[in-house]
This record gives sequence, structure tokens and C-alpha cells, in this order.
Amino acid sequence: MHPCPSNPFLDRRQFVTAGGLALAGLAMAQTPALAQNAPGAGVHSALGPLFDCPVNNDGTYALPPLPYTYDALEPAIDEQTMRLHHDLHFAAYQKGLNTALGELALSRQRNDFPQIQYWENQLAFHGSGYFLHVIFFQNLAPAGSTKPAEELQKVLADEFGGFNAFKAQLSAAANAVEGSGWAMLGWQPFGRKLVVLQAEKHQNLTQWGVIPILALDVWEHAYYLKYHNVRADYVKAWWEVVNWANVGLRVAAARGDFAAVDESGVKK
Ligand code: MN
Repeated sequence: MHPCPSNPFLDRRQFVTAGGLALAGLAMAQTPALAQNAPGAGVHSALGPLFDCPVNNDGTYALPPLPYTYDALEPAIDEQTMRLHHDLHFAAYQKGLNTALGELALSRQRNDFPQIQYWENQLAFHGSGYFLHVIFFQNLAPAGSTKPAEELQKVLADEFGGFNAFKAQLSAAANAVEGSGWAMLGWQPFGRKLVVLQAEKHQNLTQWGVIPILALDVWEHAYYLKYHNVRADYVKAWWEVVNWANVGLRVAAARGDFAAVDESGVKK
């Protein structure tokens, strides 16, 4: 793991830069390095260093240490709970995510995907668990050590009709989750809005926080008239009509590099 003397998320310089990827290449079909974390490449979130995840030298996701001591949140959250939550549960998500990524890489090398549904499920479950826990532990601090800034309260009040109204909705959403799950404040990028959402479990074959880049519709309405029940032929044909310039622009935008490419996806 790269050195993290203080907080692993707050200092971008602690991570190896991924800047070796040429922007022009992002708009082209040849973007292998984006599909997986190249060894030692590090991970920079398009959303800024607060959203970066720590990465080991071999490209696997690392388990970030707590940014405070295990008993720092007492009495609200007890020390033993924090030890179990971070050292066992969080670590299991990290390990499961890396295992899924490794197995999927092996499948790609062999061009054989005998357990694709299982490993995609594992990727979604452990990936969502890992990323949400990275945020969860960073979202906490010892009682009384911070307070909501006036600007933050204003933003939340504007969106939810009051700071306390926001807290009431998040609490109600958390209390009403059926079974295991989460309640969360999120950024909905399409309409640039803050939203409070519930999540039952946390995956449902996705990873929270992912911004869609390239979407393949496999509902029957998308192909049945021509391909009938042979979805595989439709999927094969679909690749021939992908707009790679559009994909490149979306990748650049999601990475925060949008201003550096023109409409054709070529680097200025
Ligand atoms: Mn948890």
C-alpha cells in the first residue's frame, strides 16, 4: 500500500498518478487500461481526492485504516463494533472485490466466461460494499469535533426544505429499510440534485456511485423484432454501432477531463 501517514483520502499526492493515459486515447476503441486497474496505476476519482480509493502496488484495492481510533466514536458507536465492522466486515468486502476482479481478468485472458453471472454478482456485492464502507467510515468523526457549516446547511435546506427536514427524511429512510441496507444522501449528476435514497442490501447488480458511460439495452423490445430470441446475435451486432467518440467524451467527462477534448473526442 502506498504510504498514508495521515488520512489516505485527503492527499492526492499519496497516490501514483494515472496521468499516463493520453486523453486522445480515451475517445478511441483502444482503452484497455480503463477497464481494469493497471498495476501500480492508482485510482483518482473524477469527483476529487475525497472519493479516491487506496490501491496496492499490484493494482488491487487496499483496506484503508480508520482515520481515527477504534474507540473514538464512543459512546455513539462502541469500540468492539468498530473493530468488527472495519477489520472483518469491511475487509471481507475488500477481499471479495479483489477476488472477483481477479477471476474476471482470468476469464478475459482465456476468453471463456463459465461463471460470469456468479462473478458479476460478486463484483456488484463486494464492490458496492467496499466503496460504500470507504465513504461510511470517512463520514464519521468524534462527537463534537465538527459541525455542519452554514453553507452546507443552506444547500441542504434549499434542497429539502430545511436542514432538520433533510435529517428527518434520512432518518425515516434508514428506519424503514426492509432488511439489510443503507440510507444515503447522494448526488444525482443528470439533474445536478441532491437526493436521499434507500438501498436494500447494496448491490442489485450495480455499484453505487457508478456514472453510466456505455449502456447496452437487452430488454426484448430492443432487439426482438429482428433477432427474436437470439440475444447473442443482437449483442454481437450492437458492437458494430457503438459511437466510440461519444464513449470517449463520456469517459473524459466522468474523469473530469472534459475540457481537454473537442467534440470528436480528440485531444486539443
Ligand atoms: Mn457495514
